[in-house]
Amino acid sequence: MPYKILQYSDQKYCLQCGSRILYGRPDKKFCCVKCKDLFHNNEQKVVREMRNKLTTILSRNYQILSVLLKAGRTTIHVADIQAMGYNINCVSWCYCESSRTSDFACYDILYSKSGLKIYNIRRAPNPPGRPVVKSDKTKAPDEPVPDVQILK
Ligand SMILES: [Zn+2]
Repeated sequence: MPYKILQYSDQKYCLQCGSRILYGRPDKKFCCVKCKDLFHNNEQKVVREMRNKLTTILSRNYQILSVLLKAGRTTIHVADIQAMGYNINCVSWCYCESSRTSDFACYDILYSKSGLKIYNIRRAPNPPGRPVVKSDKTKAPDEPVPDVQILK
């Protein structure tokens, strides 16, 4: 793409520092390489922080559900599990069967939620949300099909 001196009507400003971009490609977004690197590093930092925060919340949720299962509990009120530190808004998978009942998973631990009650807390040997494996049509029909999960 050819470089050109930007006209007054083409005024563009650096996405990092806000300085006016005086020359370069028409789609130029930064005044210099330093600003470009800073912008992308900050963008990656935000993504990394968000991912770390979600991982921390999911790990805490998983730990709480594991403790409940170990204690033989399969039912708990939402307020009680929240008091333990569970973040009800952070799950690894969910399925809304109806407006009143939904199924959720935190990795391999599943539970159902209805109103203010969490019930049927259980471990799933094949947790939902795993990548779906399509059957291989080149295999003989009597050969066992690999573990296939159908997501509705
Ligand atoms: Zn700049």
